[in-house]
Amino acid sequence: MSLRLYNTLTRQKEPFEPLDPANVRMYVCGPTVYDFAHIGNARPVIVFDVLFRLLRELYGKDHVTYVRNITDVDDKINARAAERFPDLAPEVGIRKLTDDTAAQFHKDIASLGVLPPTVEPRATEHIVEMVQMCNALVANGHAYVAADHVLFDVSSMPDYGRLSNRSLDEMEAGARVEVAPYKKGPMDFVLWKPSKPGEPAWPSPAGIAVPGRPGWHIECSAMAGRHLGNVFDIHGGGIDLAFPHHENEIAQSRCAHGTDIMARVWMHNGFLQVEGEKMSKSLGNFITINELLETKTFGANQWHGRVVRWAMLGTHYRQPIDWTVDRLVQARATLFDLSFLHGAPVADAPHPEVIAALSDDLNTPSAISIIHGLAKSAHRNAMSASILKATLQFMGLYDNETQSDLNPGYQVRTVDSVKVDTLIAARLDARKRKDFNESDRIRDELAAIGVTLKDTKNKDTGEIETTWELAR
Ligand code: AMP
Ligand code: ZN
Repeated sequence: MSLRLYNTLTRQKEPFEPLDPANVRMYVCGPTVYDFAHIGNARPVIVFDVLFRLLRELYGKDHVTYVRNITDVDDKINARAAERFPDLAPEVGIRKLTDDTAAQFHKDIASLGVLPPTVEPRATEHIVEMVQMCNALVANGHAYVAADHVLFDVSSMPDYGRLSNRSLDEMEAGARVEVAPYKKGPMDFVLWKPSKPGEPAWPSPAGIAVPGRPGWHIECSAMAGRHLGNVFDIHGGGIDLAFPHHENEIAQSRCAHGTDIMARVWMHNGFLQVEGEKMSKSLGNFITINELLETKTFGANQWHGRVVRWAMLGTHYRQPIDWTVDRLVQARATLFDLSFLHGAPVADAPHPEVIAALSDDLNTPSAISIIHGLAKSAHRNAMSASILKATLQFMGLYDNETQSDLNPGYQVRTVDSVKVDTLIAARLDARKRKDFNESDRIRDELAAIGVTLKDTKNKDTGEIETTWELAR
């Protein structure tokens, strides 16, 4: 099975070849934990969960390492902790805020059918690696110390800007932000900065006397390096992170480790908007995952996690997605229609056509349309039903609990399909003999067990053909 992925670095779809098929390595930028995650944040979490599942299917469950970090050092975290816990010491308040928020995030995304990553590093537990990286970059001339900061010298890296496809000249010309006086070049970025009173602080690198804290970009470089090595296979995140975050991660990691690349494939999901508008607090259309699942604020409904996941995967990950009530209503109807799988056994493996669709740069809309096709035959065939169920579970789209919840009072209804087929054959026979009493009697007998029949005339042979469905 050949996997192809679109690589932002080369701007094309490429065959994926892992550096080591016995350990396929992927890093995805995780949340900054200071508030409920919103539905836009759920997109990369779901998309890269599908990729994680696919890699496990293709290379084996024990041959994939997926790292998704938790960013727990950040200005927004400091401000929020001070606001929420004014009476606690800053470090205690920050730890409480980040622990609570991370726990909420885990709860939310578990409902969305997201598997835990292999490793979930926290930035504050990797300060040593960040300090080492700063020291290495200063020592080899890619970074410098100014006003108790460590800054990356962008002019020291000739191909800075390759990922986002911009030249340094263009970036400098477009730099509108007021440039700090201690920077040598306007695009130079912070690796380490001094801490203000009340902010978390650690002993600084590069001989800086005052305590400080890391910049955001170096956190990911340090955590990726520690858990995946200097060069790994896939790095992912939302498209907004390509510049400057990922560009800067690449600069730091390559220059610290002396490598040509940091990750082979860079993948970015498109943005999510709500009912045609950018999601923002000021527009009043800002939705958290938790609100969708637990309150009735979006479309006056609570939505099941699998419904949310289904709705998310209906659009290809690189396209923008418009988050609408209508999309959720449709996803729920589709899942509802799959309730007949409730009692079905689960096959060993998902359907190969779905694996093939996902192997084409995670084509989830195509996978979903294949699933719709499978559902048609699964109604009448136990074997197809078990493969469909395995496929849905593989994609994280189905669990029995959600299904029963979607259908309060739902009775699992099964029929003996051999018996149904025999009765249908007997009915067609009766019709041929023009024994309409008998054919009607058989139709009624089937209706009594919930089976409805549909007769169609075959255009080529002129024969009547009968298909059947089991009523919900
Ligand atoms: P943040 O907490 O803002 O760093 O975002 C965490 C992840 O969510 C990053 O991968 C972002 O690119 C992604 N993200 C944030 N907002 C959206 C959005 N509206 N649509 C899609 N992805 C988003
Ligand atoms: Zn990152």
